[in-house]
Amino acid sequence: MNGQQCAHEELAVGWAMHSLEPDEEALARDHVPTCPTCQSTVQATQEVLAGIGGAVRQEQPPPHLRARLLEQIEHTPREIAHRSPR
Ligand SMILES: [Zn+2]
Repeated sequence: MNGQQCAHEELAVGWAMHSLEPDEEALARDHVPTCPTCQSTVQATQEVLAGIGGAVRQEQPPPHLRARLLEQIEHTPREIAHRSPR
C-alpha cells in the first residue's frame, strides 16, 4: 500500500523548511532517518520549495502549459482570419 500516514508528518515538513523549534528539531533528527514516510515528506517538501524558488527564474513554462499556449496561439489567428473577410 502507498499513502502511508505518520503522526510526525508536520514535523518532517518543518524539518525540511528549517522552521522547527530546537526541541522539535531534535525529535525530527531522531525520527526522520527511521521513517520512510517522513523521509518522502521531507523530499517532497524540498522539491516544492525548490520549485517555488526556480519558478521565478525559469524562462520556459512547463510542457503542458507550453502546449496549451501553442494551441491558443494557433487557434487565435485562424479565428481572426475567418471573421474578417478582407
Ligand atoms: Zn514519520
